[in-house]
Amino acid sequence: MTRLALIAHDEKKPDLVDFARTHESQLDSYELIATGTTGKRLMDETELEVERKESGPLGGDLMIGSEVAEGALDGVVFLRDPLRAQPHEPDISALLRICDVHDTALATNLSSAAFLIEGLTN
Ligand code: PGA
Repeated sequence: MTRLALIAHDEKKPDLVDFARTHESQLDSYELIATGTTGKRLMDETELEVERKESGPLGGDLMIGSEVAEGALDGVVFLRDPLRAQPHEPDISALLRICDVHDTALATNLSSAAFLIEGLTN
């Protein structure tokens, strides 16, 4: 089964919820994991089932990165906030890096996320 991670920084969470609603029928056929707060928003505001990891600043990005390292994930959608510094910047960099190490599909904005979903579905 396709396993996809969804993460959004606070300013981007509304965009991710909208994205999930738009693609809900596709996402519904995937195993979804998310960082803590993102996962809660998705579960509260869509019908999707999401496995929640720790919140990003508390290690959630690293938990998702460890799944990438294990080859457990088919893709990562990570809507970062490019306009604000994050306290857990090293963890964010680590997740992006490990996706590149393992050639795991990674989308960091909505346009590329749409391509990613389309690619996973085909
Ligand atoms: P959150 O974490 O979903 O718990 O807000 C996201 C992040 O900041 O990486």
